[in-house]
Amino acid sequence: MVPRRCGFRTVQRHGINMTNAPSQRRLRRSNQPELASRFATLAQEAALCRACPRLAERGAVLGPPNGSLTPRVLFIGEAPGRRGADRTRVPFHGDASGRCFEYLLASAGLTREEVFITNAVLCCPADDARNHPPTTAEVRQCGRFLGRTLDMLRPPVVATVGAIALRSLGYLIKHRWHLSEVSGTIIRLQDFLLVPLYHPSPRVLHTVRSQSQQEADFQILARCIQASRPRKPRAGARPTAT
Ligand code: SF4
Repeated sequence: MVPRRCGFRTVQRHGINMTNAPSQRRLRRSNQPELASRFATLAQEAALCRACPRLAERGAVLGPPNGSLTPRVLFIGEAPGRRGADRTRVPFHGDASGRCFEYLLASAGLTREEVFITNAVLCCPADDARNHPPTTAEVRQCGRFLGRTLDMLRPPVVATVGAIALRSLGYLIKHRWHLSEVSGTIIRLQDFLLVPLYHPSPRVLHTVRSQSQQEADFQILARCIQASRPRKPRAGARPTAT
């Protein structure tokens, strides 16, 4: 089923209300030290991971620069870029895609301090000359880190950035959506809201999804975040890789 494009109506149809938001947010903040400790352990495991022979030497991009541990939205990108996160160690920062992402983030009224950004694969699948997409096996392999990140941070809203990111989520929580059908819509998936977005790379901006279309998608994301409420700590099923 393809959700309706008018995302805000989709949220209302699912009966979201904001009444418990402040108390749940306070509860999550009170758990911050434990959360920070668990996240540091996860980042350390990722740093030591050598599961993908082609990628492991680049090093996983997962740590404090990824953002807030109580995010209003968790973004899933494709992979650290050769000139971007693999170099700066900050997701979506330092290359052309990062600049466009940062512009779109600001256009939605969001800052890095209130979001978390990760990738379908944590290590950069590039050679010295150009970026390459991760293989299906690599995305599946790294799904254990994505699943644990989602389980740990429990964002009320998840935004996938690009087709591979949307597919990576499908390996954890089965779905059959294609990006061309659901981009810029709001979808209830388990106990969070999903907003699939196109990748902000120059190639995508010039061929598939223009900047003005992507700005409109980010406005839908902003309205979704405003209408969402924080999730209760440690409730619900844990996504696991299949
Ligand atoms: S991409 Fe993920 S699974 Fe593969 S080596 Fe890096 S951290 Fe490990």
